[in-house]
Amino acid sequence: SDSDSQLPDISVDKLLGGLLAPGFDENSCLSRYQSSLYHKTPLHKPSSYLLSTLRNYEDLHKRCGPDTESYNKALKQLKSGQSVSSAECKYVVWISFSGLGNRILTVASAFLYALLTNRVLLVDPGNDMPDLFCEPFPDKSWLLPTDFPPKHKFDSYDQKSADSYGNMLKKNIINTSTESLPSSLYLHLVHDYDDHDKLFFCDQDQTLLSPVPWLIMKSDNYFVPSLFLIPSFEQELSRLFPNKETVFHHLGRYLFHPSNQVWGLIMRYYGAYLAKADERIGIQVRVFEVVKGPLEHVVDQIVACTLQENLLPEVDSQDSVASSSRNPSVKAVLVTSLNSGYFDKLRDMYWEHPTVTGDVIGIYQPSHEEYQRSENHHNRKAWAEMYLLSLTDVLVTSAWSTFGYVAQGLGGLKPWILYKPENHTAPNPPCRQGHVDRTMFSCSPIL
Ligand code: GDP
Repeated sequence: SDSDSQLPDISVDKLLGGLLAPGFDENSCLSRYQSSLYHKTPLHKPSSYLLSTLRNYEDLHKRCGPDTESYNKALKQLKSGQSVSSAECKYVVWISFSGLGNRILTVASAFLYALLTNRVLLVDPGNDMPDLFCEPFPDKSWLLPTDFPPKHKFDSYDQKSADSYGNMLKKNIINTSTESLPSSLYLHLVHDYDDHDKLFFCDQDQTLLSPVPWLIMKSDNYFVPSLFLIPSFEQELSRLFPNKETVFHHLGRYLFHPSNQVWGLIMRYYGAYLAKADERIGIQVRVFEVVKGPLEHVVDQIVACTLQENLLPEVDSQDSVASSSRNPSVKAVLVTSLNSGYFDKLRDMYWEHPTVTGDVIGIYQPSHEEYQRSENHHNRKAWAEMYLLSLTDVLVTSAWSTFGYVAQGLGGLKPWILYKPENHTAPNPPCRQGHVDRTMFSCSPIL
């Protein structure tokens, strides 16, 4: 039947080409083994070296994760204050910070850093991480235990913190000839970082940091491209990712599985509005100007982009009765935005006028939260919307937004990127097609 064609093909590869480990309890995280049913067969295959590295990481995480003997030993060392070179397990602690898209990208960056340096990644639960994501590693949690001693300092860590790596270098408290290093360091990788903080991305600093058992980082910056600039990581990275455009695609699909609540939001929306369409088009609109939308020039830009690039058909403004095609193609357009105005305009346009092709266009927007919020249920919706965008066939995203960036990466899509408007005018051309991982092609990290 018709609906069967939208549904699971049993032969789908539920472990995503070996990316995921088998053996998790399926009910505790339905999305983990069901995601392959909704994503198109990925064009990008993980390297076998990445797969073996992930399996090794999982063993390490099991040995060193919370409540293990090694973890407790490392905690003792943390309290003692000094590094010893023989630490059994070393850690990178990720502090929950910034918007959801940013957090997803920085967790992925921190995880890659952990893989490259044989560290264990522990994630600060913040307000909502366990509410949004399943556990990614078998057997042992990735969540930082709540009694982790420096946790009370997380909020106050900033560019000026005395125990940041950058400031300790600046004050010459540590340098490349230091013999006794502290047992923990704070790494400030937030957009206001200075030249000393950025030395983290240099080879000799990596050598210096290597024995420190606890590295605690705060970032709002997808720093994977910077890791590629560190010569001592080069060889390993090229073995892990022969195609460096796919780093986030693979790590994202490995790490981020929507919790059952979020998966419910995704599945219900997908089933109701997207599953039956012949084609799914995602349009992510993120406007950074602080005015109440919709902005006319942004509407113009979206329409210009989708028409010029043949993503959506033109409408016949003469309203001549369209030759009613017997078998019109049905396109479902998923709009995501904090504002409902862009959706309204597009919906009206395709309701009030026929398309010149006879195609039928449905426009849908799951939520319009009006302004950026951070309470749990808002982020559940934000995560569901990012994920739904990743399930589309064609994606249009806003430049400078990590929200759309996560969607494109998870979907392995080459999005059409709407240029950031300047001076309240629609840029011309309105958009261009990007790469699967656009940051790999510029040295300036997206914030
Ligand atoms: P960025 O600021 O666009 O890079 O993306 P972030 O995800 O880091 O921060 C923006 C936050 O604003 C998100 O986490 C959401 O909470 C909210 N937000 C922005 N755009 C949308 C949207 O289209 N839908 C929903 N539900 N929330 C959004």
